[in-house]
Amino acid sequence: MTRYRRTPEEHPVITEPVAALAGTLADDGLPAYVYDLGRLAEHAAAVRAALPAGVELYYAAKANPAAEILRALAPHVTGYEVASGGELAHVRGTAPELPLAFGGPGKTEAELRLALDLGVHRFHVESESELRLLAALAAERPDRAPAEVLLRVNLPAGDRSLDGAALAMGGRPSPFGLDPERLTACLPLCAGPALRLRGIHAHLASGLDAAAQLALAERITGWARDLADRHRLPLDEVNLGGGMHVDYRRPGSRFDWAGYGTGLAELADRHPGLTLRVEPGRALTAYCGWYVTEVLDVRHSGGEAFAVLRGGTHHLRTPAAKQHDHPFTVLPREHWDRPWPRPGIHGEPVTLAGQLCTPKDVLARRVPVPRLRAGDRIAFALAGAYAWNISHHSFLMHPAPAFYYLG
Ligand SMILES: *Cc1c(COP(=O)(O)O)cnc(C)c1O
Repeated sequence: MTRYRRTPEEHPVITEPVAALAGTLADDGLPAYVYDLGRLAEHAAAVRAALPAGVELYYAAKANPAAEILRALAPHVTGYEVASGGELAHVRGTAPELPLAFGGPGKTEAELRLALDLGVHRFHVESESELRLLAALAAERPDRAPAEVLLRVNLPAGDRSLDGAALAMGGRPSPFGLDPERLTACLPLCAGPALRLRGIHAHLASGLDAAAQLALAERITGWARDLADRHRLPLDEVNLGGGMHVDYRRPGSRFDWAGYGTGLAELADRHPGLTLRVEPGRALTAYCGWYVTEVLDVRHSGGEAFAVLRGGTHHLRTPAAKQHDHPFTVLPREHWDRPWPRPGIHGEPVTLAGQLCTPKDVLARRVPVPRLRAGDRIAFALAGAYAWNISHHSFLMHPAPAFYYLG
């Protein structure tokens, strides 16, 4: 049985300004990434409002570091989390007024020097060797304030708390962060004048719902508190990481920020004096972007329908990376001026493929559509995060998409 009806939450959403622009672009002006900055600001304001006032909200720039996006977020976030020297220089240049946290598993000496030069707010240190290097570099600048450090911990899962995660960075052996015993061994290294230990950072998984995020927040904070008590250290801050779930099967749904905020408020009440910080990427920017393109051809093979699109996963790698059917909206076009019949399908499942010469260039598989014809347009939703910037642009040398930032 083919199901043509979708629930409202499943139904892909497209905003008015994006649909309007998509209708005016010429065929060879496609594909295009279209961002609705008004929608982004509204969403970010709602996220900020759902979190307790004392909880700091950093944006993980790797989700989408476009300058327009960073600037649209600036009024709603406390700062940005950057994970390379490139992001550091770019974000500092784009939004110089906001603090930066510098993370990432493999920081080079040059990157650490740059971060010290730029005066980043927090260093998220991931190993003993990195801590020693940072201490040595910071000690070369005795006239400057100490480097402010959060030690990144990889807490063992110990239960099934990370089972629902789309990506697990921790809770099992991984190159990210310090095992608890190693972290304890690092504490004496933070005692010198060049460093100041402010607390703990943990980003253990991505794709967790609010209940799972809160359970994790409890564990991380409880563990950090025990550690501080055992070693008689002050504990100023716990950074709980990002990883708030984005549901690509239900593009109208949102992470339960209100429930999460309520839970964080209770957690904060139990730890007076402790600053909690979160650093989401995907769940802030995914909803503000669309990848808009054109159907070049519709054909059948072995009884199945395929639509070949202008562009493909070299522009939007998200469905290939996450192995999902990317949600989309069909924008019908009545115009067809070729002197032969228009290729198309009615009420059939269709696989949307791109222009690359590889069977992996698929954006959605066997998705039922009421109608799809060559010349129609497709707008892929949830393309505002981990989309263009994670894609393999130069493969096959197709032209780059156009970029529009609306609002
Ligand atoms: C990628 C990353 C984030 C953001 O993750 P999302 O799943 O995009 O929310 C936050 N913190 C760290 C350390 C990361 O590596």
